[in-house]
Amino acid sequence: MCVTLGSQVVPCCQFEAKSIPPIHLKGETSSLEDILNSQTFQNLRDKSIRGEPIEGCHKCDSVEKSGLHSLRKWANECWPLQDNEELQISPSTVKYLEVFVGSVCNLKCVMCGPRLSTAWRADYQKLGWQFSEGKEEQVADYQSLLPQLSGLEEIKFVGGEPFLSQIHESLLMSISPEAAKKVRLVYYTNATTMPKPEMIEKFKAFKEVHIWLSIDGYGALNEYIRFPSRWSVIDQNAREYLKLSTHIPSLQIGVHTTASLYNIFSLAPIHQWFEQLKKETQATSRLVWVIINLSHPEFLCVQHLPDSLKPKAIALQDTECRFQARLASVLKEPSQPAFFKKFLDYTADLDRIRGVSLESVIPEFSKIESL
Ligand code: SF4
Repeated sequence: MCVTLGSQVVPCCQFEAKSIPPIHLKGETSSLEDILNSQTFQNLRDKSIRGEPIEGCHKCDSVEKSGLHSLRKWANECWPLQDNEELQISPSTVKYLEVFVGSVCNLKCVMCGPRLSTAWRADYQKLGWQFSEGKEEQVADYQSLLPQLSGLEEIKFVGGEPFLSQIHESLLMSISPEAAKKVRLVYYTNATTMPKPEMIEKFKAFKEVHIWLSIDGYGALNEYIRFPSRWSVIDQNAREYLKLSTHIPSLQIGVHTTASLYNIFSLAPIHQWFEQLKKETQATSRLVWVIINLSHPEFLCVQHLPDSLKPKAIALQDTECRFQARLASVLKEPSQPAFFKKFLDYTADLDRIRGVSLESVIPEFSKIESL
């Protein structure tokens, strides 16, 4: 179950919220139990049990079509369907919760936007693009929600940057030690900031805490993609996280990379860097380096690399990259030149207002006009 930034209840963060009538936790008179047993949710559950296609699940459909591992597949592996699945459920049977903790963020990553990052909004204005905050800023009342979810096994925080979020902090601190014992926390952080000491102390009460460092390039490339981060800070924080994991057995640290047109030529150095850090800090985290393939916005997707550059990108996929073969299969899908043109135009606009340049960090694109 996921509660979106607009406090709408949907099955998960990948689900197309527009495909169902909006059901909000805030401002609605219905209880969570009513929401989970509404006709909308019963229909979704019924289709899921029968294995029928669901309109809002098209992102997982397309990920699976490319041969990649979708969120749906992962969830079905963690919590398989039981023979006696029922359409009517109680909130206490919900095992997995995705929590949007607001859009406060200090970065404006190229693949993100103003809906998820407050820092992005100034650049949007400079570019003359339209954005209205609207209802998306409404955040659900998690304090009253959590006690109803007594069977929770995992909470994933979605932002924004969770370690800058006041909503996250108060929610984390409100979880009782008794409930924490059964729960795994999952974070995706941009690694520009560390959790406060009291949060780190609180982590010790949880069954497990997985912190994924979202890193999309080594050094200057990460600074370009995850603008305006500083690599020296990220390197230092990654060491801190790994050192912490050697003292807190339940804390696991991994690196999470989103493959896009910006980093398809430079994925392996991320892995080499992380492995080196693990050696230096003597950390033995069970989490590894995971790459996912960016699917949105589509014009940044690796599939749309010009055909003349694809052989090099395919050959470069490091053998240690977990999804190496599958990423290569996405690269082999036909590219659409119009999307690559949009990538170039979009990137040129961002470069202009940010005072950076694509060619300086991705030399493969320096002769792009002759492609
Ligand atoms: S760190 Fe996350 S929320 Fe912030 S801009 Fe980057 S992708 Fe968006």
